[in-house]
Amino acid sequence: MATVLMVDDSRTSRKILRAVLEHGGHTIVAEAANGEEGYLKFKELHPDIVTMDITMPVMDGIEALTLIRKADENAKVIMITAAGQKEKMVEALKRGAEEFITKPFDEAEVLATVSRVSQK
Ligand SMILES: [Mg+2]
Repeated sequence: MATVLMVDDSRTSRKILRAVLEHGGHTIVAEAANGEEGYLKFKELHPDIVTMDITMPVMDGIEALTLIRKADENAKVIMITAAGQKEKMVEALKRGAEEFITKPFDEAEVLATVSRVSQK
């Protein structure tokens, strides 16, 4: 089971994802509502996995991913994407994202992705 930091500006998304991950036995060590907060929490807590929304105020998910990977080249970041974000997905892969989870969340898909990434 993994320790997870969830970064998403949508409270509803965080609530749903938390329920799914906790149901799968994972531990949410913190939540952050923008990329900057997420980056700071990552440095403080060193979670096994970060789930990272892309579109957020203050600092977006691509920038936060870049900073996190700069701070720890082994950091495992799963991007949360919505339809129509193909360019951002390509950019995230270039910057070291491990995997993607698409909204709306599918419980089986989310848990399969998290366990795949945590075993890498
Ligand atoms: Mg968002």
